Amino acid sequence: NEARTLSCQITRFGDDERLLIIRDVTRLQRLEQTRRDFVANVSHELRTPLTVLTGYVETWQDNSDALPASFGRGLKRMQEQTVRMQHLVEDLLTLSRLETSERHQHNERSIDVAALCEQIAEDGQELSAGSHEITCRLEEGRRLYGDVEELRSALSNLIYNAVRYTPAGCHITIVYRSWDKEGAAVEVIDDGEGISPEHLPRLTERFYRVDKSRSVASGGTGLGLAIVKHVLLRHDAWLDIESRPGEGACFRCIFPAARMESAPA
Ligand code: ADP
Repeated sequence: NEARTLSCQITRFGDDERLLIIRDVTRLQRLEQTRRDFVANVSHELRTPLTVLTGYVETWQDNSDALPASFGRGLKRMQEQTVRMQHLVEDLLTLSRLETSERHQHNERSIDVAALCEQIAEDGQELSAGSHEITCRLEEGRRLYGDVEELRSALSNLIYNAVRYTPAGCHITIVYRSWDKEGAAVEVIDDGEGISPEHLPRLTERFYRVDKSRSVASGGTGLGLAIVKHVLLRHDAWLDIESRPGEGACFRCIFPAARMESAPA
């Protein structure tokens, strides 16, 4: 008498024929839940030993004069790798929190999206340290309902990627505009090298990278776009990626009308 989960799919043939497929997805759902719990637990358990390791590495670095010279390079590598692991663990925890916590638990408020875009552009400037030209184009003024911290983390990932995956001298534009009927979109557009079409459908998968060594070298965890996708899903929104090799990329977050506040009178 256990509750089961069924998935229904209706396919239409011609004008008056329909095919109804009902699948029992209970087992699949359980497996997915086990996977999520496992990832969340492992990430959580890794936090403490990592904090201890980081503490030792920092102490040794502060006293590096007292250590043999040959330790220096190894110590630097250890520090880089512990920072990398910390970012990975934090991103894994963020992702599992986004996947598992109920939507009503997040703090939905009215967000000044235009102001958020300006802050994100400033963060991008800081990260690029003047190597890129970053501008903001605000064509839309409406606020939207959502979790400001979640949206900030999604947009930060997009601007960080735009800075990290484009050569110095490129232009990056953040655009806030109306979209479709009453919806809105935030776009992060760059004029960098772009991405080949075969990669586009897989970019939001966990650990999918076009060029792994470049991603690792630039401090990427391979989870950025998966986080963006999940944040948007929690806002009934979605990510659309347009890019052509040699022509840059546009990462567009599309918010439906139901999320938007009406324009100020
Ligand atoms: P990562 O941590 O590797 O940056 P992401 O999920 O954020 O992981 O991005 C996945 C991959 O998408 C990156 O490794 C990179 O190859 C590609 N990518 C993301 N943004 C851009 C961009 N603006 N231009 C070119 N490639 C990009």
